[in-house]
Amino acid sequence: MRLRARFTVLFAVLSAAAVIFLMIVSDATVRRTVEDRVGERFRRDLAHLSDDLARGAPGSETRDAFLRRAAASLDCRVTYIAPDGRVLDDSDLLPADVPAMENHANRPEVQEAIASGSGSSRRVSPTEQKPMLYVARRLPDGSVLRLAISEGRLREVELRSLWLMRAAAAAVCLLLFLIGASATRRFSEPIAELTRAASAVAAGDFARDLPTSGGEEVQLLGGAMQRMKSALNQAVQRAESERRLTAMVFERLPDGLVVVDSKLRVLEANGRFGEMTGIPAPAGRGVYEVLRERPLYDCFETTVGTGETTERTVRLPDDRVWQIAVAPLPEGHRAAAVGVLRDVTRLERTEAMRRTFVADVSHELRTPIASIAAAAETLAEGQPDKAESAELLGLIRRQSDRMRELIDDLMDLSQIESGAVPLVREEVPLRELLTEVAEDLEAGARDRGVDLRVTGDEAVTAMGDRRRLGQLARNLLDNAIKFSPSGAPVIVRVFRQAGRSGFSVEDLGPGIPRGERDKIFQRFYQVDRSRSKVRPGSGLGLAIVKHIAQLHGATVDVEGEVGQGSTFRVSFPAAA
Ligand code: ADP
Repeated sequence: MRLRARFTVLFAVLSAAAVIFLMIVSDATVRRTVEDRVGERFRRDLAHLSDDLARGAPGSETRDAFLRRAAASLDCRVTYIAPDGRVLDDSDLLPADVPAMENHANRPEVQEAIASGSGSSRRVSPTEQKPMLYVARRLPDGSVLRLAISEGRLREVELRSLWLMRAAAAAVCLLLFLIGASATRRFSEPIAELTRAASAVAAGDFARDLPTSGGEEVQLLGGAMQRMKSALNQAVQRAESERRLTAMVFERLPDGLVVVDSKLRVLEANGRFGEMTGIPAPAGRGVYEVLRERPLYDCFETTVGTGETTERTVRLPDDRVWQIAVAPLPEGHRAAAVGVLRDVTRLERTEAMRRTFVADVSHELRTPIASIAAAAETLAEGQPDKAESAELLGLIRRQSDRMRELIDDLMDLSQIESGAVPLVREEVPLRELLTEVAEDLEAGARDRGVDLRVTGDEAVTAMGDRRRLGQLARNLLDNAIKFSPSGAPVIVRVFRQAGRSGFSVEDLGPGIPRGERDKIFQRFYQVDRSRSKVRPGSGLGLAIVKHIAQLHGATVDVEGEVGQGSTFRVSFPAAA
């Protein structure tokens, strides 16, 4: 549309310029032509008139009348001049006034006519004081007949011709303008349509086809644009699917991801980052505000400042442990660095547990190994007598038993913890089971002067693995006997209460401080390590109890006051 308007204006201006140019050029030509043609006509008329006059054409009418009639019909002034230049007759004067006229022998057209037969001039008439065109002709008798036409008349004729020419020029230019404007419309309409379709495609309407009508060039252009549109559409779709994939990966990443600019302002962050920092929409905020801990935001400062990747592990005040890695991004982008945050709290705890476990196992093994080594050395080099040798061998056996027990317990615990223990579930009568365990430990209890009693309802059962439940009970009874003072009873009670069944093991030992009650179920935890010297143990018994109880859906808790004994209570769920 704009193109068409421009072409229309251009054609209009060109047409106007052509009209003006043609008028300027044609005006001069027209004037000359008119002059020539008028002069020619007068010369022809003059020739006829001269012939008529020479033949005595006036006939009966006088020469004066003849000349006046001729002047009237030709609309000009007719003068008849004698060969010596005297004016003999003039159509504009009365015959009486003619003799008073000035001699015309010096008039250029008269002189030319006398000399060559015909003459003409254009000049101001001394008689009428007006610009005139003169044509003169010599008659056979030497006299001269002259016609004079006023410049005004000449102009009239000129003007008529001029306006005719101008009108013709304007008509031609108008015609050319109309042809040009219509050609422009035919040329610009398909381009305008192509432009509209291209604009729609640019706005995202890829379903729109580009028109291929119009001239050959427009068709080629339309075809090329259609191909370009298809390529563009494919590229846009590829970019869009890649963008969606990137956004999905960004969002689903199990680590917190944050992108910052060179001023350490957050540009983008994923959902996990929001969860970890507790700020769901951190975009636009400073990384200092969002990460708060100096060791964390220092990483961003260092990376943006040095262009180097920074990595560190940071323990937060609430004991969470985060690993942070910040990498620089290439220059020339809004984003300056990308940071990844990983919560490694659990990993750290597991690692700490592993370290403690290795230290505990080493510690537990070191004492028996040292005893065995010392006994072996005395046996080899000390030349002990029979009784001493027997004692040393007994020590070696006891310490190896202790190590075997420790290793057995460790293997057991690791198996139970990993869940690889197959449970053979059955209805286990608790009183019967506990009596069996008590009988097994009876000898040991008697040695320590401990009175072991099992009481309670014989009908109470628990659903579970008999062997594992026996192991659980043995560990509890073993501890109770171990920690009981000599002569004190250990009472095992089977109960059914509020739909739950279970048993308790009660002793009058040293008891367990409240703050330690959870810890005693951890591996190798011992309330007072000095106790273990008197009552050796691996520190794994209660950890095994806890895990077996968990496998059965049962709970274990402990009650009692320090110095007044402990009661361990195992409680099975109602369904069991
Ligand atoms: P240990 O082999 O040392 O007995 P356990 O895991 O069985 O290991 O017990 C852990 C710790 O819990 C013991 O070292 C002891 O300090 C405490 N404990 C266990 N049972 C009793 C109890 N009946 N009376 C007092 N303390 C106990």
